Amino acid sequence: MPSSNNYISTRGGEEPIGFCDAVMTGLAADGGLLLPEKIPDVRGKLNRWQGLPYPRLAAEVMACFIGKGDLPRATLDKLVQRSYKAFTHPDVAPVVPVGELHVMELFHGPTLAFKDIALQFLGHLFEHILEERRTHLNILGATSGDTGSAAIAGVRGKPSIEIFIMHPRGRVSPIQERQMTTVLDDNVHNIAIEGTFDDGQRILKELFGDLKLRETLHLGAVNSVNWARVLAQTVYYFHAAFRLRERTGCKQIQVAVPTGNFGDIFAGYIARRMGAPIRRLILATNANDILARFFATGRYQLGDVHNTLSPSMDIQVASNFERYLYYRLEEDPVRVATAMAEFKRTGELAVPGDDEAFTAGQCDDEQTLETIAHYHHEHNYLVDPHTAVGMNVAEAHLQPDCPTVCLATAHPAKFQDAIQRAVGKNVAHHPAISTLFDLNARCDTLPAERRAIVEFIKTTLRERGLL
Ligand SMILES: *Cc1c(COP(=O)(O)O)cnc(C)c1O
Repeated sequence: MPSSNNYISTRGGEEPIGFCDAVMTGLAADGGLLLPEKIPDVRGKLNRWQGLPYPRLAAEVMACFIGKGDLPRATLDKLVQRSYKAFTHPDVAPVVPVGELHVMELFHGPTLAFKDIALQFLGHLFEHILEERRTHLNILGATSGDTGSAAIAGVRGKPSIEIFIMHPRGRVSPIQERQMTTVLDDNVHNIAIEGTFDDGQRILKELFGDLKLRETLHLGAVNSVNWARVLAQTVYYFHAAFRLRERTGCKQIQVAVPTGNFGDIFAGYIARRMGAPIRRLILATNANDILARFFATGRYQLGDVHNTLSPSMDIQVASNFERYLYYRLEEDPVRVATAMAEFKRTGELAVPGDDEAFTAGQCDDEQTLETIAHYHHEHNYLVDPHTAVGMNVAEAHLQPDCPTVCLATAHPAKFQDAIQRAVGKNVAHHPAISTLFDLNARCDTLPAERRAIVEFIKTTLRERGLL
């Protein structure tokens, strides 16, 4: 069966491509992001999906976006089953009542953050596509913390993939560092660069910009604009609505999402457009409030990055925002390209009207600590600082006839310093965290220079017989 070419660029400068090509490419060639040509309406399927266990629901939701010639249904089922076996909770993403809120715990995967939900799947999907195409891929990434470990956990031990992850030496938390460097599989290569996260990003950009090098080294990326990551995340918005309907009989929910790169909440937006019973999405930011300000004013304005207690949300430009802009600008790629060019030139863009799908708010570090302390003392429930941002903003947006689900994006044991500050002692534990410091680690330290990184990659690939 031929593949159905149903992925287009937000900027309209490319012929449509199929699902597997969209996953392998990441970014569209015209600089835009890839999106499905049409979003399916699944309202007629909701009753049938209601009782499904998480992996079966995941396959149903994702199949709506994948041409049968791209990935046969039986293969998708198999990849999804494998992906969610790695989660330690039988429901994968349990939804628990906490005070007036409901919390969906997305942190039961191998690295204890929600990024595992997508990156476990992406790892298996990459492996399948590479085997079909009889080729291999060398993933290169730069991380400030959570993404690196989840990406490594997604591809460790896979024979068709090598992964190189740069982190700024001494500038990620000891737990985050250990989550990466204690993975000793032969295909995992951690690089501590003597520089900042921005140096890592810059090197990454330079290497990917060099098309010839990219080709000779078979380089690939796992960043948050990969469509498969968004797609895997739409699933749990349906899952949340179903669990809440069972518990409360409600017809609709609202969902609070701690937001950084706009990947997670954009998945919720797609789910809503498909017909998931979501009244609105509550976008929660920390002091980096560019997105909260956008939903209040219609203006998207570049600002300075502030370091906060919720570092995975410390972003300046949200990489998935352009996808939302495409819908907000009436699916007109010319308007998107114009707006993005304007943003590049002036650091600002404006959009008319508003969108009832969203409401937004922000929460600073002090409120984050208060929220952690409040839920610990009043409800005996411990949350990490990212989740706390979402819960704090959710409290200001409760609705009497519509329950609120807050996405818990990381396990509190990943952020023990913040817990210690909020509660007065460290009460956040997890066996996968406490044993990290007894394990052996492997990591190479290199100068933050493009040449040194390229040499390291080449030498490693030669040693491994891959170049
Ligand atoms: C990545 C991350 C976020 C932000 O998610 P986006 O998809 O970038 O908006 C929030 N919380 C945690 C713990 C994360 O790792």
